[in-house]
Amino acid sequence: MTSRPGSETAPARGKKGILFTLFLYLGVFCAVVLLVIWVVQTFLLDFIYSQISAFRMVGAADALAEAVTADDPEEEATAISVGYQAGIAVFTIDGAGTLGERLMRVEGEAGSTVSRIPNTVMQSMIAEARENGGSAQRTFTNNFSFGNNAANVKLPAGAENNAVPPPTPNEVESRRTVYVFLRSDAGGRAIAVFLDTAAVPIGTAASALWIEIAVLSLVFLLSALLLAFLMSRRIARPIAAINETAKALGAGHYDVHFEGAGYRETDELAATLNYAAEELSKVDDLQKELIANISHDLRTPLTMIVGYGEIMRDIEGENKPENVQVIIDEARRLSDLVNDLMTLSRYQSGCEKMQTENFDLAQTVREVSARYNTLLSGRGFTVTVEAEGALTVSADRARILQVIYNLMNNAVNYSGDARVIALICRRAGNCARVEVIDHGEGIPAEKLADIWQRYYKVDTTHKRSVVGSGLGLAIVRGILELHRARYGVDSKVGEGSRFWFELDLAEA
Ligand code: ADP
Repeated sequence: MTSRPGSETAPARGKKGILFTLFLYLGVFCAVVLLVIWVVQTFLLDFIYSQISAFRMVGAADALAEAVTADDPEEEATAISVGYQAGIAVFTIDGAGTLGERLMRVEGEAGSTVSRIPNTVMQSMIAEARENGGSAQRTFTNNFSFGNNAANVKLPAGAENNAVPPPTPNEVESRRTVYVFLRSDAGGRAIAVFLDTAAVPIGTAASALWIEIAVLSLVFLLSALLLAFLMSRRIARPIAAINETAKALGAGHYDVHFEGAGYRETDELAATLNYAAEELSKVDDLQKELIANISHDLRTPLTMIVGYGEIMRDIEGENKPENVQVIIDEARRLSDLVNDLMTLSRYQSGCEKMQTENFDLAQTVREVSARYNTLLSGRGFTVTVEAEGALTVSADRARILQVIYNLMNNAVNYSGDARVIALICRRAGNCARVEVIDHGEGIPAEKLADIWQRYYKVDTTHKRSVVGSGLGLAIVRGILELHRARYGVDSKVGEGSRFWFELDLAEA
């Protein structure tokens, strides 16, 4: 049955669309990224900056150690001060680390405190550097003034072990970090290089970063929206197209073709739907053919019956037994067809109950062959039988008989001139196997799978006298599947066919 577009399942109202869902996910992703940036900016910037700064200062100290013995040390030191944005002071020191002569000093950028560091502070930093592998650093707040004694130096609490307490907003802008590096110059003299830099990015840089974050947030959100829009178009469009095509299919247009849009999932969906459309189209063809065949097969005997009836009524002397026999034959053909159709529809509806009993299948086969021999001997047929002993199966005897009859009738109908039919019943493992063998026209290999379909005929042109209802093998299949029996056919065109089925032997 095809469902009309009106009867399709209602679209999932209230469910979120792909666009909204994608935007939601991308929005959440952006929020997480921005949160990470914000956390880094707030809590890690100072730390990262001081690490980078310390790393750079090592380079500055190395350059200065060389500059001390250069031709124009002051000029070199100025260049280094500009390059590294640091105030510079270089002293000689003796073996005990005591400050000696000042070799050079460059004030550097505004706010530099290098010229104001008290000797006591320098001395204690040198001592610390000597213990720490040749370098030390300290960070100072803004409102200090270096006097001549250490008490005037306002070191932040914990500055001795380099811990930097969180600065107040005023402090942030002008905190300074002073580094000392112990080196020796080209002449082997021990020197102490003091470098003084801003401790944190200066205020403008910091607020620039916040503006940057705000701009980034906006850009992220807008690009998330754009991306969600583009992605949903790329993903939702093919699905919508498939939906439209499926509606056409639902309306009975079996010639539709589903396009997959190049994604694995949509391509697979399209391929599945194309397959479904193909199968539906086959079923549709089969249904049309079935109706055409049935109406043809009903019409022909009816025409004969009416025709012969009229002749017998209207023409004197035509009321002969032969004509009455034609009417009886055709009426029987009609009743056979109707019976077959009813039987088949019972099997296909699945409401047929089996009357299972234990019986000897070999004995049944022997009886059938005897009956056919009597029936067909007048037409020149020989039915040979090979069914020794007893093979007890548990099955519906009447139905299994119908299977054997249908197979035998086909063997007779399609025997051609080779009028020998073999009926075999033997043991095959735990089964009783029945074979019906003819030496007639055979069935082409490509048709073998189709012959079990109802109303399928290999040769659609053969004469009525030979043709059955076209339902015989479909009924055989229905009965055997009800018994969960294995069945099949081996056939060669021109050599004949061997139809077989196997029933489990009843347990002793
Ligand atoms: P029908 O009433 O036409 O025989 P069946 O369902 O019994 O219908 O068989 C379907 C088709 O299978 C037949 O039309 C015939 O073409 C083919 N067929 C069945 N049995 C044989 C056979 N023994 N030899 C050749 N063809 C056969």
